[in-house]
Amino acid sequence: MIGKKILVTGGSGFIGSHLCERLLNEGNEVICLDNYFTGSKQNIVHLLKHPYFEAIRHDITMPYFMEVDEIYNLACPASPIHYQFDAIQTVKTSVMGAINVLGLAKRVKAKVLQASTSEVYGDPVIHPQTEEYWGNVNPIGIRSCYDEGKRCAETLFMDYHRMNNVRIKIIRIFNTYGPRMHPCDGRVVSNLIIQALKGIDITIFGDGTQTRSFQYIDDLIEGIVKMMNTDDSIIGPINIGNPNEFTILELAKKIIDLTGSKSKIVFLPSPLDDPKQRKPNINLAKSTLNWEPKIQLNDGLIKTIEYFKTVI
Ligand code: NAD
Ligand code: UDP
Repeated sequence: MIGKKILVTGGSGFIGSHLCERLLNEGNEVICLDNYFTGSKQNIVHLLKHPYFEAIRHDITMPYFMEVDEIYNLACPASPIHYQFDAIQTVKTSVMGAINVLGLAKRVKAKVLQASTSEVYGDPVIHPQTEEYWGNVNPIGIRSCYDEGKRCAETLFMDYHRMNNVRIKIIRIFNTYGPRMHPCDGRVVSNLIIQALKGIDITIFGDGTQTRSFQYIDDLIEGIVKMMNTDDSIIGPINIGNPNEFTILELAKKIIDLTGSKSKIVFLPSPLDDPKQRKPNINLAKSTLNWEPKIQLNDGLIKTIEYFKTVI
C-alpha cells in the first residue's frame, strides 16, 4: 500500500531533490514539478526509475491541476545570482506560484507548505531573529524581487487560510548547504568550496565580518517533514535553521583547513543590501516540532566537500 500523494514544486532543485527522496523512502507517491531553471534532471535521475516517482516539466506561474494530499511549495531560485537574473520572473514565481498552489490546495483540500526564507527579515536589526520580528527589507533594491516576493507569498498563504480555511504551513528556512547545491549558483558555501578545491582565489565580499548561520541539508529536511506532519492548528511561520553563527571569514578559513587548499583569500566589494548578520532563534521549532539541528558545520562541510570533489 502506498502512502500519501505528494506534490513537490521545485523538486529537482537542491532542497527539493532531497525532499523527494525522503518522501519516497517513507512510502509516498511523489510528483516533482519543475521548470529546470536552477534545478536539474541530474539531481533526480536516481529517482526516475522509482515506481512512485513522476517528474513533470511545468512553470509554477501557470496553474496546474492534480489530485494530491499534500503540496510542498519550493519552486523559486534561491541564490542571489539566479533570482536577480530575471527579477520579474522571480516575483512571478513567488506570487503567482503561491496563488496557483493555494488555488490547487483549496480545490482538492490538500495541505500546503510554503518554503519561505530568512530573507523576509531583510538586513535585520533584531538579533537573533524571532518569528515575531517583521524585518527590515528594502522594497526597491536588487534583492527585493526575492525578499518581497517571499513576503507576499506568506501574505497569500495567511489570507487563503483566513478566507478559505486552506490548511497551510509556513517555514522560514535559513542558509542551507550540502550535496546537490548548484556548482555555479554563487552561494557562499558552494563558491568557497569550489574555489578551495580548484586552488583559485577565495572571494570574500566585503570585509568578511558579516555573519550567517549554516544548516546542513539533512537537518532541514527533517524539520520540513516534521512541520508538514503537525496538526492543522500549527501554521507557523516557524524558523528552521542552525543557530551556530559564523563570520564569512571564519567559514573561509574552515574550508581552507578542511580541503588543505593553498588558495588565498581576496576581498571584493560587498553586494548591495547584503545583510550584515543572520541567526535564527529556533525556540518555536524546538517547542512545536521537537526539532533542532544535529549536524555541526565541520561535519556537514566534510560531506559537502566530498560531493563537490565528484562534480568539478
Ligand atoms: P534551487 O534553486 O536549487 O531550487 C529551486 C527549484 O525551483 C529549482 O529546481 C528550479 O528549477 C525551480 N523553479 C524555479 N522557478 C520555477 C518556476 N517558475 N516553476 C517551476 N519550478 C521553478 O534552490 P533551493 O536552495 O533548493 O531552494 C528551494 C526553496 O527553498 C526556494 O523556494 C528557496 O527560496 C527556499 N529557501 C532556500 C534556502 C537555502 O539556503 N537553500 C534558504 C531559504 C529558503
Ligand atoms: N559571499 C562571499 N563570497 C562569495 C559568495 C558570497 O563573501 O563568493 C557572501 C555574501 O556577500 C553574503 C554571504 O556570503 O554576505 C552569504 O551569501 P549567499 O549568497 O550564500 O547567501 P545570502 O546572502 O542569501 O544569505
